[in-house]
Amino acid sequence: IDSKLPWVGTTIFTVMSKLAAECGAINLSQGFPDFQADRSLFDAVHQAMLDGRNQYAPMTGLPELRQAIAAKVQALYGTAYDAESEITVTAGATQALFTAIAAFAGPGDEVIVFAPVYDSYVPAIETVGAKAIYANLRYPDYKPDWNEVRALITPRTRMIIVNTPHNPTGSLLDAADLEALAELTRDTNIVVLGDEVYEHICFEGEHQSLARHPELAARSLIVSSFGKTYHITGWKIGYCYGAAALMAEFRKVHQFNVFTVHAPSQVGLAAFMADHSRHLQLAEFYRQKRDFFRQQLAGTKFELLPSRGTYFQLARYDAISDLPDTEFAQWLTREVGVAVIPVSVFYPDGRDDKVVRFCFAKQESTLAAAGEKLRGI
Ligand code: PMP
Ligand code: GLN
Repeated sequence: IDSKLPWVGTTIFTVMSKLAAECGAINLSQGFPDFQADRSLFDAVHQAMLDGRNQYAPMTGLPELRQAIAAKVQALYGTAYDAESEITVTAGATQALFTAIAAFAGPGDEVIVFAPVYDSYVPAIETVGAKAIYANLRYPDYKPDWNEVRALITPRTRMIIVNTPHNPTGSLLDAADLEALAELTRDTNIVVLGDEVYEHICFEGEHQSLARHPELAARSLIVSSFGKTYHITGWKIGYCYGAAALMAEFRKVHQFNVFTVHAPSQVGLAAFMADHSRHLQLAEFYRQKRDFFRQQLAGTKFELLPSRGTYFQLARYDAISDLPDTEFAQWLTREVGVAVIPVSVFYPDGRDDKVVRFCFAKQESTLAAAGEKLRGI
């Protein structure tokens, strides 16, 4: 078979969660909460089903949900997006990202990404025939170097993908980064794709959404996910928003990709959003988990890197082992009983800084049990 993606295997999240299950290890690898979502959200979805809201929602998403998203974005970032023409509900952030890439990039185009890079971007770029161009976020700061990015921009650059708060490193873009990005893309037709799924899990200052910067907002599509915000990663519902002209192109692809997503969940989410502003408490909620988990690892030989956002904690393990990080992650899962993600898999050249990623979106009892095992190394 002529593979379009010859170098692509099975995603690390599937590999590590499967290994964790096989070994009976505590799974701090793939990012998902091990606690329940709010009961009223389930009741609202159940009620929507009983009320007969079981047929196709509009292609662009349920109007009430798009309006709730518009209100939230305006309240947080000060920019008005038109619910009718500038917001689309998607099957999770993954579909939104793929659709945005497919809508704008094709053969001959280049898309700039930052390594370590979330693992769905590059396969999406290559599936549509475009080429990924890598800029670096280097250990230990994981900050972008905008001069490096400037040197990578060519007439073929169609898109730049930024992710803040950043998975897997927990680093953040600040206002100066947005300004640098705006300056670099000024007078070009480059589309900026913002993966902001952890927008509400920002521990230092305010989340710097592309939506806050009027010039960038005009050339950006921004993606978020209810999975992260309401502890429902398995529902796979997210959204994309951006200027009407960009959104029109996005929808040309979206309508023939998924057309629309699970209707009763959209009804439930719209009702839940109207009643709650839970997202405002999310950073504090996860800050406590982050601090609790860091305390668990204090006194171990893991060197904890800063976690400024997301529900991930990076740790350097070179004082414990010389193994490459993929092997160390396997050893930790099999022999210690705690599954993690090796960070080298997010680099095109497999750069190995001997750093692994822990997910702390877990009950304290889970984090304490993992801590006990890790302190025993
Ligand atoms: N982008 C990033 C940076 C993520 O961490 C994730 C989820 N792990 C996604 C996109 C995908 O989100 P969803 O589950 O809503 O598709
Ligand atoms: N984004 C999640 C993580 O980083 C996993 C999502 C997935 O499994 N595709 O762990």
